Amino acid sequence: MVLPFKNEPYKDFTCDCNRKPQLEAIAALEKKYGTTYPLYIDGKDVKAPETFASINPADKDKVVGNFQKANEELAEKAMQAALKAFEWWRFYDYRERANILLKAAHIARRRRYEINAGMILEEGKNWLEADADTAEGIDFLEFYGREMLRLGPNQPVTPFPGENNEFRYIPLGVGLVIPPWNFPWAILVGMSSAAIVTGNTIILKPSSDSPYMGQLFVEIMKEAGLPAGVLNYLTGPGAIAGEYLVKHPKTRFISFTGSKEVGLRIIENAGKTAEGQIWIKRVVAEMGGKDCILVDSEADIDAAVEAVAVAAFGFQGQKCSACSRAIIDEKVYDEFVKKLIPRVKKITVGPTTDTANWMGPVINEKALKNTQSYIEIGKKEGKLLAGGNEVKGNGYFLEPTVFGDVAFDARIAQEEIFAPVLALVKCKDFDDGLRIVNSTEFGLTGAVFTQNRTKIAKAKDHFHVGNMYINRKCTGALVDVQPFGGFNMSGTDSKAGGRDYLLLFMQGKSIAERF
Ligand code: NAD
Repeated sequence: MVLPFKNEPYKDFTCDCNRKPQLEAIAALEKKYGTTYPLYIDGKDVKAPETFASINPADKDKVVGNFQKANEELAEKAMQAALKAFEWWRFYDYRERANILLKAAHIARRRRYEINAGMILEEGKNWLEADADTAEGIDFLEFYGREMLRLGPNQPVTPFPGENNEFRYIPLGVGLVIPPWNFPWAILVGMSSAAIVTGNTIILKPSSDSPYMGQLFVEIMKEAGLPAGVLNYLTGPGAIAGEYLVKHPKTRFISFTGSKEVGLRIIENAGKTAEGQIWIKRVVAEMGGKDCILVDSEADIDAAVEAVAVAAFGFQGQKCSACSRAIIDEKVYDEFVKKLIPRVKKITVGPTTDTANWMGPVINEKALKNTQSYIEIGKKEGKLLAGGNEVKGNGYFLEPTVFGDVAFDARIAQEEIFAPVLALVKCKDFDDGLRIVNSTEFGLTGAVFTQNRTKIAKAKDHFHVGNMYINRKCTGALVDVQPFGGFNMSGTDSKAGGRDYLLLFMQGKSIAERF
């Protein structure tokens, strides 16, 4: 019997029992630096003519691994393997498919420190952020496995005299799964496992900043008994494999998480019917955010300060849910700023192999340069209150940066920077604050701090985001506790880790038999 779903608890790294194995796992991965990893197509390891390096952003001379640069020929090979496997995988007992996910969760638990180490070295996550990411991936496997047990059997329909009516969910076909680098384990695992457990076969194309994490997932799914051809792993440039496969007539659906720009391009390309295509491609796209915390005049200011600091600078502000705007009632603005700035200045920055550093590097040089150019824009649009500089080291380190007195429509208050940069925006009152909350094109997450119940009720109705929080930070959604996904330009309104998520990868078939 499968027990009810429960979220995976986090490791306590103040205990040597967790600290020691974590240090050992980091050292073990450092020893493997420079290893070359293959593609995985039709159950076989495959090489491409060229490779690329995935480096440690905290120590840019260190190559976490070399990965294959898949080209169109290899993308086609992956497509043919996935098409072939779909012919039998779609009829594979749904209970067996669910079992593979549950087994994978079990293996991931066993390899937890190794998975954490991957994110500490390849993405610069601190230990707690890495462990939360690993736990979320385990949650997705456990939750989607159970969800398939619920959705696999025939679904209820209203009886009709003289007929036997059935309603069942069937898979779609071959899917292209394109996750981002920032939750390189959890999101990759969630998107891939949802598509697989529902009976589809997939081509998984990870971000070139996080191919090692996809490699770990492939290893775990193999060990869990996933048959050859169901999961095909294709590393390489987004444009070659991504565009070729997005436009491919045999691609049935695309599951994407990433930036608005790439998401919209995929939606546009998927909307054009290719020669020989006999369906309308389904696109599930989860995209960017410009998330905020609204601090009311009747708020607990200390709690709001803590939430803003953690949500703005956790994982260097590189979460789609990160607080990049704090909107503060002018009556408490000065008090808020006075408390926030010393709190931000306490944040430590450096390689996260050392747990004394809470903030690590940004992901790559492009992100560093892009953030620096936004910091220059910020200096013109607001008052620099903290940070603004690069931090010495052999990685892409930036100080946590805060700009005050930013207009609600300034670029740094409207555009997703995806880095440790926070804009403080004053509002006249609560209603003005809500207007500013909703003034961007995004609608992913947000929080409100107030002790006033009338205002809480109003925010519940008017704060237009997919994930809204009250008197807590706007990051850290848990699987099936806060199903996750945003409105407007933040995506196609899906909810990862929610009870309707698997339906995005299936279609309903009604069968009526007259007696
Ligand atoms: P990105 O858009 O640059 O890349 C995402 C993925 O798309 C990567 O795997 C990349 O290789 C691939 N890609 C790039 N060009 C492509 C193309 N032309 N065709 C097909 N695929 C292509 O995003 P990123 O930098 O990896 O991630 C950060 C972004 O993701 C931020 O905007 C963030 O807000 C967003 N995000 C959203 C959510 C959510 O749930 N809404 C969650 C995490 C991240």
